Amino acid sequence: MDDKHKIKIAVTISCLAVVSILFVNKFLKHRKRKHNNNNINSCYLKSQVKPQHTFKRVLANNSYAPFKHLRLQDGSTDLHPYESEIMDLMEKPLLDFKFSNGITDMGDKYVWVDDESKLKELVEVLSKERVFAVDTEQHSLHSFLGFTALIQISTRDEDYLVDTIALHDTMGILAPLFADPNICKVFHGADNDVIWLQRDFHIYVVNLFDTAKACDLLSKPQRSLAYLLETYCGVTTNKLYQREDWRQRPLSTDMVEYARMDAHYLLYIADCLVSELRLQKNAGPNDKLDLVFEAIRRSNALCLQLFSKELEASPGQSAASSIISRYLNDLGSSTANMQELVRRLCSWRDLMARIHDESLKYVLSDSAVVALAEKSPLTTTDICATISQADMDVDVLSLSSAPRCPSSVVLSHLDVFPCLLQDEINNLDDIFQLVLKKHLGPNGSCPLSLYNYGLLSKTNIKVSDRLSSKGNKHKLLKQVARKASRELFVQKFSCKAPVYHNCRIYANDGRLLCYCDRKKLEWYLQRDLAKVVDEDPPAIMLLFEPKGRPEDEGNEFYIHSKKNICVGCGEGKHYLRYRIIPSCYRIHFPEHLKSHRSHDIVLVCVDCHEKAHSSAEKYKKKVASEFGIPLFVHKVVDSNDEHDSGSSTSVLKVGDGGVSPLELRTAAMALIRHGPRMPPQRREELKQVVMKYYGGRDISEEDLENALLVGMSPHERRRLRKKRGLSLNNSSGNIVSDKELESRNGGVQLSSPDKSLNVDKEDRSDNISNSPYINSEFNENESSELENASVADSSAKVNGSIHQSGDGVGFASCSSKLSLLGHGPHGKQVVDFLLKEHGEDGIREFCQRWRQVFVEAIHPRFLPAGWDVTHSGRREYGDYSVYNPANRVSPAGGGKD
Ligand code: AMP
Ligand code: ZN
Ligand code: MN
Repeated sequence: MDDKHKIKIAVTISCLAVVSILFVNKFLKHRKRKHNNNNINSCYLKSQVKPQHTFKRVLANNSYAPFKHLRLQDGSTDLHPYESEIMDLMEKPLLDFKFSNGITDMGDKYVWVDDESKLKELVEVLSKERVFAVDTEQHSLHSFLGFTALIQISTRDEDYLVDTIALHDTMGILAPLFADPNICKVFHGADNDVIWLQRDFHIYVVNLFDTAKACDLLSKPQRSLAYLLETYCGVTTNKLYQREDWRQRPLSTDMVEYARMDAHYLLYIADCLVSELRLQKNAGPNDKLDLVFEAIRRSNALCLQLFSKELEASPGQSAASSIISRYLNDLGSSTANMQELVRRLCSWRDLMARIHDESLKYVLSDSAVVALAEKSPLTTTDICATISQADMDVDVLSLSSAPRCPSSVVLSHLDVFPCLLQDEINNLDDIFQLVLKKHLGPNGSCPLSLYNYGLLSKTNIKVSDRLSSKGNKHKLLKQVARKASRELFVQKFSCKAPVYHNCRIYANDGRLLCYCDRKKLEWYLQRDLAKVVDEDPPAIMLLFEPKGRPEDEGNEFYIHSKKNICVGCGEGKHYLRYRIIPSCYRIHFPEHLKSHRSHDIVLVCVDCHEKAHSSAEKYKKKVASEFGIPLFVHKVVDSNDEHDSGSSTSVLKVGDGGVSPLELRTAAMALIRHGPRMPPQRREELKQVVMKYYGGRDISEEDLENALLVGMSPHERRRLRKKRGLSLNNSSGNIVSDKELESRNGGVQLSSPDKSLNVDKEDRSDNISNSPYINSEFNENESSELENASVADSSAKVNGSIHQSGDGVGFASCSSKLSLLGHGPHGKQVVDFLLKEHGEDGIREFCQRWRQVFVEAIHPRFLPAGWDVTHSGRREYGDYSVYNPANRVSPAGGGKD
């Protein structure tokens, strides 16, 4: 660019800036007058109806909840409802007809479909066709997720333009045609259309011929529709119409012509491409690859895609990170404060876009976010001027000279900016709550809609007084209560920070060894075993020769970065770690088989967690009966001398007297809580149960308290003690100090550098199981375990098995560590049995079974690349590996798991 040009642009910018500042000022003054000075935050949506507000049914709303796909009978929502039909087409591609009757000129005649009767006529027509051509036009500026504004359908005889705004709620009647494997649908570049149709109408395309895929196979110089139209049909099209506002009605003549053209010639073009593909086939006599079939296969592979909402851990934060790295990173002046402001603004923008159903870009452009963060303007005039200026700087390049002004969202909610830009907000989540309450809460400023209503489930805001029509109120409240309870659960148990840091470790030849967390990098760096080669996210290169390369060993899993999302459904807002191999088994694995946790601990959302956990519990019962090893310990007796303070319990074989730990606990708890108020007969029954444990002698209050602890691991005891407070501390001489417990446990301190991926304190209990939100089927310990006692007993009725004998000794010796209340003893016996009978291969095969259970339970669609049911877990450790046993014996603690 020469200097003259630069000056010209600079002058233009300044002029426009002045114009826009004047413009904005005038606008604000006008508003103030109109709204009597203090009502500046009245929402623009109160006086503006958007086309999508007429929709009565919205499949993809703007909440953070995952999209719900069509669910066919017995089908899971996570699967493509027509997967098997599509797979059939891919296996047996068939093309035994011609798409068109040759080329036909477009003419003036077309059918505008804008009411239900016309749509039904169209269904009638299409159901008799073997093929039709389709294209869609979208609107995305004034919509958060975008919506389909027009569908063009062309048969050999007719062009139809379907007004999908007028017919939004009725479009479903086209779905059977799109899903009919006997009717071929021709699209050009269907990647997005396929997904948009699912999002808006639950329309799933089955049997697709995509002319762009055919182009790829023919190695055409271009794959655009404009190129094909020109080459095969001799017509030119102006793709600038693509960006028109397709919501407008009536459509201009030019737009109608453009829209028709996108579908009208497709059938003919498809025929041309098919003949060329056939010619290519004939070129080689025993060509294995039939290109026509390949085009059909690739087209239908597109149909298997599923729409999903982009979900992220914290609203707006992936956009914020992207802005920071694009705009602020090479700015030396980029302070932490500016980055913080970008994050706040993006959080606000994300939520406001959802509330008002607008695109992020419309609410506040990326450059405006940066400008606000840089200048941190104080007055509303300055805020508006900063935004206009930033947008103009960008627009000058695209030569649009109309003075820009901040979006309606910004203008009607200007009052939030001082708080966003100046106040101390400790937590991005506070912004979230604040904004939601202010705009959608009981006296909120903005209208509720089908798009934003779902957002309320994230808060405890009562919606009843805003949406209390008829019988809805009770249902709504119940929904809100259920969602609030779920939210609490998520808050309590979900990971508080991204789990995967995606740091990289390279070998000294530059090959990627693995992705890992920061701690692991530090471990190597502190020992001078590596040097830093990249900063963000950090990467190191090892200074020694590591043993082997993951790719060469079939361990590709370790060299892919992992996303912080639910591996099941892709949910990114919250997730928790899920152990695919239940801990009751895994804690008993030989140490070196445990180090593969990054493969077998995955992130899942609450809903997928529940599914996976309940199916794992069912499978445990199967394992129990298959191995003849009951899930719960049958009988325990007090092996104590009365005055011995170190309480110990031994496990007996069935029939040796004694009582099951669960039964004992239930009885003791009931006696302590309700003893005096019980019918005497029941009290006597329960007393007998407890006495059985103490060998038939009379029992005291203290015995009852002690009975509560029987079979508990130190961890469980600590928890119970905390819960019951002083009453236990005073009365029980049996409780060992925490310090002693920890030393007996081999220490709970973790020393492995991978602490962040560690299961930490929870390791002893399987996954998350003691939440009030999760139903009792989900639970494994505490109160619900007591409720389940009868179930446990019945499932443990497998007796006379070889594993039963001789266990007493084993358990008695480890009873201080291992809970007899959970599945720990069962796990230990199973693992011991596997090791004895099949060695480590037995364990590997066992792990594979659990991965299979997991896969079948939630049909995960977002497992990290390289994840594999048959993952061997075989890895050699180099001399310097953090997993090498030699490197784990450090004073910092004996690296556990
Ligand atoms: P087409 O497949 O060309 O008919 O495009 C379908 C829809 O995709 C259009 O209505 C636009 O909403 C959107 N679209 C495609 N390409 C662009 C682009 N380059 N810029 C903006 N929107 C686009
Ligand atoms: Zn508003
Ligand atoms: Mn189009």
